Amino acid sequence: MSVSSIEWTEVTWNPVTGCDRISAGCDNCYALKMAKRLKAMGAAKYQTDGDPRTSGPGFGVAVHDDAITEPLRWRSPRKVFVNSMSDIAHARVSPAAQARIWAVMALTPRHQFQVLTKRPKRLANLLSDRAFYDQVKTALWEVAENFNGPIPVNDMDAALRWIDPRNRLSGAIPAPLPNVWLGTSIETDEYCWRADELRRTPAAIRFLSCEPLLGPLPSLDLTAIDWLIVGGESGPGFRPLDLDWVRELRDRCVQRRVSLFFKQVGGVRPKAGGRSLDGRTWDEYPTRVSAGVGHG
Ligand code: SF4
Repeated sequence: MSVSSIEWTEVTWNPVTGCDRISAGCDNCYALKMAKRLKAMGAAKYQTDGDPRTSGPGFGVAVHDDAITEPLRWRSPRKVFVNSMSDIAHARVSPAAQARIWAVMALTPRHQFQVLTKRPKRLANLLSDRAFYDQVKTALWEVAENFNGPIPVNDMDAALRWIDPRNRLSGAIPAPLPNVWLGTSIETDEYCWRADELRRTPAAIRFLSCEPLLGPLPSLDLTAIDWLIVGGESGPGFRPLDLDWVRELRDRCVQRRVSLFFKQVGGVRPKAGGRSLDGRTWDEYPTRVSAGVGHG
């Protein structure tokens, strides 16, 4: 577990590392730069190199089975950003690996997992596929058998009830896990289609990360969106944020009752521009989240 400096989460969990740039929001990917540093420091998870055209040293996609069970060890509930150093829906993350990740999330209803992707189409297809849940069921037993520690009986029972085909309508997939929030990133108007893919993904909570916001989003449809994160870019070469783009999103969130989290204005350093918009901060979380979620 790594305690995160990202304002809207508490800890990061990286059972997968590495990725490839796919759109303008990736141009200054902090994970790509950090992976290069971690590789140079000898960090074991960052020794796989990626394609130099789209990735970089230490940033090749790698699944870390020894990290998959980490949340089972964290006794107190946490907000967990899943794969802050990767993209869970990257084509090189196999359905079997994703099934193990889903199994761990099903076994730990005390945590709230925040899953964010720039590849929502693949995630939508995977989570709509009944065969995927057969893999999750197998993974539940594998994880439980191989985990070197206790799993509360109630959590195991609830996870098995959740995945059991006998508890579903014929042909149906299980209800979305209530402790898993699914999100997609949208940086410019041309990527507003990602919200459509997210909408067709079974999810208890859906969120958008409009960070780094690189332009106005007039095409953005907020239907069925529970939470919107917005922020400007930071670091050397940051692309400046126009606060009018944020104001327009704020007004629409208020009108549609979508919870809003304004992370940062951005600048050379993350805190350079502050977090205030017209004299106030926006630190809202999805309102449909209930305390002590379970999935019995
Ligand atoms: S999708 Fe995310 S992790 Fe992957 S390169 Fe783009 S910004 Fe980085």
